[in-house]
Formats: sequence, structure tokens, C-alpha cells
Amino acid sequence: MRRILKLPQEVVAKIAAGEVVERPASVVKELVENALDAFSKEIRIYAKEGGKDLIKVSDDGVGIPASDVELAFERHATSKISALDDLTKLETLGFRGEALPSIAAVSKVELITKAQEEDIGTRIIIEGGKKVFKENGFFRQGTTITVRSLFYNLPLRRKLLKSSSTEWNRILKIVLAYILAFPEVRFYLYKGEELFLSSGTSLEESLKRVFGGDFLKNMRQISFAQEKYSVSGFVSAWGEGSGEFFIFVNNRPVKSDIIKKAVAEALSIPPGRFPVRGFIKINVNPSLIDQNVHPAKLEVRFFEPGAVYSAVYNAIRRAFSIREPSFGGFRSSVPKFSDEESSLSFKESLFEYECKIKGEEKKRSPIRVLARTSKGYFLAETEDGIWIIDPHALLERLLFERLRNTRVTVQLIAPIVLHYDSYLSSVIKDKIEVLKEVGFELEEFGGNAFLLRGVPSPLSNLRLNWGEAIKSLFKEGSLDLIKAWADLACHAAPKLGDIATPEDMQRLLNELYGFGDFDLCPHGRPIRYFLSYREIAKWLGR
Ligand code: ADP
Ligand code: MG
Repeated sequence: MRRILKLPQEVVAKIAAGEVVERPASVVKELVENALDAFSKEIRIYAKEGGKDLIKVSDDGVGIPASDVELAFERHATSKISALDDLTKLETLGFRGEALPSIAAVSKVELITKAQEEDIGTRIIIEGGKKVFKENGFFRQGTTITVRSLFYNLPLRRKLLKSSSTEWNRILKIVLAYILAFPEVRFYLYKGEELFLSSGTSLEESLKRVFGGDFLKNMRQISFAQEKYSVSGFVSAWGEGSGEFFIFVNNRPVKSDIIKKAVAEALSIPPGRFPVRGFIKINVNPSLIDQNVHPAKLEVRFFEPGAVYSAVYNAIRRAFSIREPSFGGFRSSVPKFSDEESSLSFKESLFEYECKIKGEEKKRSPIRVLARTSKGYFLAETEDGIWIIDPHALLERLLFERLRNTRVTVQLIAPIVLHYDSYLSSVIKDKIEVLKEVGFELEEFGGNAFLLRGVPSPLSNLRLNWGEAIKSLFKEGSLDLIKAWADLACHAAPKLGDIATPEDMQRLLNELYGFGDFDLCPHGRPIRYFLSYREIAKWLGR
């Protein structure tokens, strides 16, 4: 056995920093929290290279008194609590006194600050946790912290960071959360030198910035106060989501499974999915929560989780006017959507299933379409039996195969300007190349706008709402080619019109089987049901 040694201070600091500072967005989060705790009215956030090279947060808050500046960088030094008991009354976002020392341990920090009650301010530079420079000077009131070269002294950690655009998206998401939580504060977010986003000065303005101009279209306002918990926010009908859902507890953005579960169950969303956008704010007496369960304060613990669940559940049900069914105590969870979307994951549904079928595939004899039933199904016949065909599923698959097999872009006569909310447009910017592969030719057009110049040829004469069509591709935040074609097919197939006659169906079937022998629509619903003559004979006792 080796001897036990006490780790040097520098190593301890780096280890501890790892818990608080995981990536640029965590630095932004801590610095913004400090600015908010300092009663700032205006906060400017700059990030270069997704925050990997530089993060700067500048506020007009109360500032740090000259005599406290060095203390602020010491571990567990905080002006926000002074005794354990204070944790139960906590009204500030910070309280652990760990952010500044953690950030300073793993980067090069410059802090400029002047306290409200003092004339002279301070500028201090700390690199890798060591003070390298300090001076006094005339600075304006407030605090500006610049964090350069994050993880420069932890190369492995730096390597783990994702691309600048991915890190930027995480920063954006954090800033959007605070814009919603503190609508009365003005936020400016700069990408390098360029102003990327500014918040408004009202909740409505903030909502527009976060969710786009038409945010109200599909959202319900939540407002529900109980004895101990008040629940507010805006929540969309489900199916609208591209994943922007925020949860705040006493204005702290947190992750909370219990609240998500309450929202999902109130809206009868199946487990494992969360296609909802919006936000929920819960206000509660601080003595009913423990905010100190996560080093980066990303979670809170509710002392009465059941009560929180039912407050949120009821708030949502009420806002959406969903009544409980009258038969005693049994909660309806009948989903208002087809099963194919809920239970089968996409790849499972389509490809694995089809491979399975392919294995036992026999040669297909020619199909002859016979008739259309009054409900719109088609009957067709082969040598071995009868098919019942669902025209909608067939159209979806056909469109999917057309999209997949014809990678041609048709230029629009005049380009169309599309606007998205900040989050979505940032995601789209990242995926412009993938969209091109799918057939959409998009060009950045400043701010959150894009010019659409070309569309996939199989869709070109369908008169779609292109803005919505592109948005439908980002429902779950990610975008891959196969899924994109499937989502587009699903979005656009109804526009192909009804299949009116057996002749139309015959033509489309022939086209589909020119691509291959398919049984399922792109989301895994069967296109056809086969009854073999052998089976029929058995039923009829022949
Ligand atoms: P905590 O926020 O948990 O107290 P931090 O390490 O984030 O710990 O900050 C340490 C202290 O530095 C804070 O308690 C606060 O007094 C001071 N401070 C940090 N940032 C600011 C700021 N932007 N404006 C005013 N004071 C600040
Ligand atoms: Mg703090």
C-alpha cells in the first residue's frame, strides 16, 4: 500500500471545479446567476467559439466591494448565506460559493467590478486559480467577468468539449431559460461581436424571443395557485414540440422528472416521449425544497413530491379543460394519437421489421386492384389471396420512397423568407447541409431568418407550408436523413389527395413496387393486410 497523502490545494481545486464547470454553458449559467443575484437590470453575454475561447458576462448590478474581490475567488466564500439555517430561506440563485473559484481554477479570468457604495473599483486577473494581477481604477458600477481558454490547463477536459456550434446551442438554451425566468431583466446575447439575441422587457416579449412570434397559437396559459404551490407558465398542445421545455422552481431553471411526468400524464402523453414546448414555473416556500442536491444546482428536491405532482397535473388539466372521467378514480390515459408513433421506435418499426419479413419472403405474384370500399380501403387480389390496402399508409410510403430515391432539388420561382425562434434557427443553421441532402436549399438571411430557394422535387407541386414542413423535421431536436424523409412523407402525404379509383391505386401500387416490396409506412404502420385463400377456405369450412 502507498502512504496516504493530502492532495495539493491546486489539485483539489481542479477536481472540485469539474463538478461545477462541465462546459462553457455551465460557466455562463453561473455568471448569469451571479449577475441576477446582484440585482442587475441589464446583462450582456458574449461567447466566442461556443464559449471555448471566450465568455464574457457584464452586468449593471451592485458590484463587489474592493475589499471582497479576492475573497470572492475563495472556495465556499459567499455573501448569500451565513449559516446552515439560511438554506431553508434561500432566495438567491447562488449560495455554495463555488462558482468563481471553480471557474478561475480551470481558465484565465479577468474580473472588473465596482460596488454601488464605493468610488473606486477593482480589476483582477487570475489564471489557473492564481492571482497574476490586481489594480484599482475608475470603473462603472457593476461587474464584468471575462473567462478565456476554458480548460486550458486540463487538456483532456478541453478535448471532451463538443463543436463550437454545439456548445453555442447549449449556451443559447441556458440564456433562453433565464430570459423566461426573469422577464423584467434585459438580456443581450452576442455571438462573438454580433448581437444574436436580446430579450424584451415583458413576459410576452420574452416568450416571443424564445418560442417565436406565433408562440401563442398553440399554447395554453397555466395559472393555478394552491395553498403551498403556485404553478404558472405556458404549455403547448402536444405534438407541437421541438424539445424546448423549461422548468423553473422559484425562478431557478432545473430538471425535474416529477414535473415532466405530471405534465406528460396530464396530457396523456405516452412514456418515453415529451413532444411539448413551453415552460412551467413553480413557486414554493423555500423551506419545502432542498436546493442543495446537485453541485451545479440543476436539481431540487421537493419534500412533498406527491403534492407537487398533483399541483402541476391539475394546473395542466384545468388549462386544457380536460375533465376526469366519471367512473370512480380510474384515470383515462387513452392517447389521442395512433400507436405507431408512440410504441415503436422508428428504426425498429421500419427496417428491422422489414428485414424480418424479407427473410421469409416469397416471390410476389402480380397484384390486381379490384375495388374501393365505402370507407376508402382498397381490395386487391394476387394468386394466393386478397389484400386490404390502407391508401394513406401507402401514400406515405410512396412519398418516402420518392424522396429517398430522387435527390433532386427544384428551385422556387421566388425564394421564400422563413422565420423561426432563436433555438430552432440555431439548430437549423447547424443542419443546413443535411437539409440540402434532403432537398431543401436554405440560406441564412440574418438573425433568425432564412431564405428558402429550393425544395425536394417530389414535394415541389404539393403546395405545402414550407416553414412548417421544415419545422416538422426538428420535432425531436435531431435530424437524420432517414427520419427526415419519413417525417416529410408523413407531413406531406395528405396533400397528395385521395386515391379515388382502383385504377389510381393500381398505378400507385405499381410505382411503389418499382421501388421495392414494402409492407409498412415509414413510421411502421402496415400498408396492407393479407388474407390468404387457404385461410379463407379454412374459415368457410371448405
Ligand atoms: P455564490 O454565488 O454561491 O455566492 P460565487 O462563487 O458564484 O458564489 O460568487 C461568490 C461571491 O462573489 C458572491 O457571493 C457575490 O458576493 C460575489 N459576486 C460574484 N459575482 C458577482 C456579480 N456579478 N455581482 C456582484 N457580486 C458578485
Ligand atoms: Mg454564484
